[in-house]
Amino acid sequence: MEMDKLVSLCKRRGFLFQSSEIYGGLNGFWDYGPLGVELKRNLKNAWWQDMVTGHDDLATLPGAPSPYEMTGLDCTIIMHPQVWKCSGHFDLFCDMMVDCKETKRRYRYDQLRGRWVEAKGQRVFVTTTAEAEAEGEDLQRRALKAFNLRGKDADQLAWDGDVVSLDKVDDLSLAYAPEAKEVGTLTEPREFNLMFKTIVGAMGTADDAAFLRPETAQGIFVNFKNVLDSSRVKIPFGIAQQGKSFRNEITPRNFTFRSREFEQMEIEFFCHPNESRKWYEYWRDRRMKWYTDLGLAGERLQLREHDADELSHYSCGTADIEYAFPFLPEGEFGELEGIAHRGDFDLRSHMEGKLVKNAEGCLELETVPIEGHPDRTRPKYKGSGRDLQYRDEVTNERFTPHVIEPSAGADRGALAFLCEAYHEDEQPDDKGKMQTRVVMQLHPRLAPIKAAVFPLVKKDGMPEIAQEIYRGLKKKFPAFYDEKGAVGRRYRRQDEAGTPYCITVDGQTLDDNTVTVRDRDSLEQWRVKVDDVVAEIESRVS
Ligand code: ATP
Repeated sequence: MEMDKLVSLCKRRGFLFQSSEIYGGLNGFWDYGPLGVELKRNLKNAWWQDMVTGHDDLATLPGAPSPYEMTGLDCTIIMHPQVWKCSGHFDLFCDMMVDCKETKRRYRYDQLRGRWVEAKGQRVFVTTTAEAEAEGEDLQRRALKAFNLRGKDADQLAWDGDVVSLDKVDDLSLAYAPEAKEVGTLTEPREFNLMFKTIVGAMGTADDAAFLRPETAQGIFVNFKNVLDSSRVKIPFGIAQQGKSFRNEITPRNFTFRSREFEQMEIEFFCHPNESRKWYEYWRDRRMKWYTDLGLAGERLQLREHDADELSHYSCGTADIEYAFPFLPEGEFGELEGIAHRGDFDLRSHMEGKLVKNAEGCLELETVPIEGHPDRTRPKYKGSGRDLQYRDEVTNERFTPHVIEPSAGADRGALAFLCEAYHEDEQPDDKGKMQTRVVMQLHPRLAPIKAAVFPLVKKDGMPEIAQEIYRGLKKKFPAFYDEKGAVGRRYRRQDEAGTPYCITVDGQTLDDNTVTVRDRDSLEQWRVKVDDVVAEIESRVS
């Protein structure tokens, strides 16, 4: 599927719009239209239902070491600034960026990719972006440009090594930036903190800066004790939260995949340190199954364990659930969700202060010299000093729980389901002529509209019967009534919206009180009694 077809369908049918479009849009911000808001809400509701409200606290689920409890939270977007100092985000939540002095474009250091090539006695690292690559821009064309050569001179190019990321290159003066005319226009990499700053209160100064949360997770950690004390949950248990997060991404792109404002669905699962490995494996597999059950099956979805050198300084294991988005180069995958084994890093940070790994690989408090006393140190950022340990009521053991974190993005999820749903086939229209049909094969749980009702014609009492059915459906879930135009066109419109079932009231209805039900994917049609049709659709979509 070509991405522009999906992008134009999303706009045309009201799944996604560019934010502030009438003013030219704002890069990295997206709005959900009438269909999109339902899709995203359905995705979030499915997650909440499957992970939290519908979770069976008493059962041992397949692959789980024991039963466990699940509960929820809804925290603020702006929190005490110390939260981000202790969590490490204030110092470390940075991307390295490079600027092109010629084109004034800015790139993420690790996201420019390229290859060494030699010609005319000169060696150059030719770069390109993943998008340009996906759109067929090849390194050879850029290389020819770099050396002022023509296509027929391609044999003069001597390639050296594989395509690697720019951060593997020592001498940036030999790099040829995307879209640049000259070689060597990239600046040295600089750090760029991704947190949005704001000021709280009318009297606030820059020193009172607060931050929009870049993840929902920290709100859960700082409320760990509140949840324990108020809900009587016992370890092992999880706290779930959905909500907006903000990151001032250097290069927002690929539709909603990398936005500056987006929604996360995160679980922090607290367990005994001896059991954390098993729980990590459980959550990794459980979360993968959630996507496949909702229809992201097949080769485009994969679970990838991180190599040791990819792990964050606190993590003892991380896996990503990834999807082969159509805007990525062939064979590449983009992250939908990360499942991380975070050990006791987060709760300890909020007790003690910002932690760093020491030479032995253990976490310890980060310290800085006290001014005027070069031989004495103080903690760089002080923790809350609160006791965030857990006491087991049965064994009386006290310990700092380990945390497993399945962290998903609602927007990336919605985008993956949209990509997976897009299908085209050839179907005869009302006059029997073959036409391309676009159909969004969304899982019924995710489909914005569950059923549409059409009277075949606007007379003979058909509209009245159809409206009655529509009202019956509306009591249960989103339904749509349409009496305009040829029935074939009405079907097409619902196919594009991803509506799983269409119900048509026709001449036969007047004789035997049955209606036609049509299945979006198989195109199968069958007749159902008017009185049974709501129940039939309900059982099929739930
Ligand atoms: P990436 O490497 O792609 O920037 P990340 O590893 O920083 O992602 P996490 O910090 O693990 O992402 O965030 C958890 C989830 O939040 C991601 O798997 C993704 O679904 C979502 N997410 C993160 N950043 C963005 C963004 N800029 N736009 C949309 N969703 C995002």
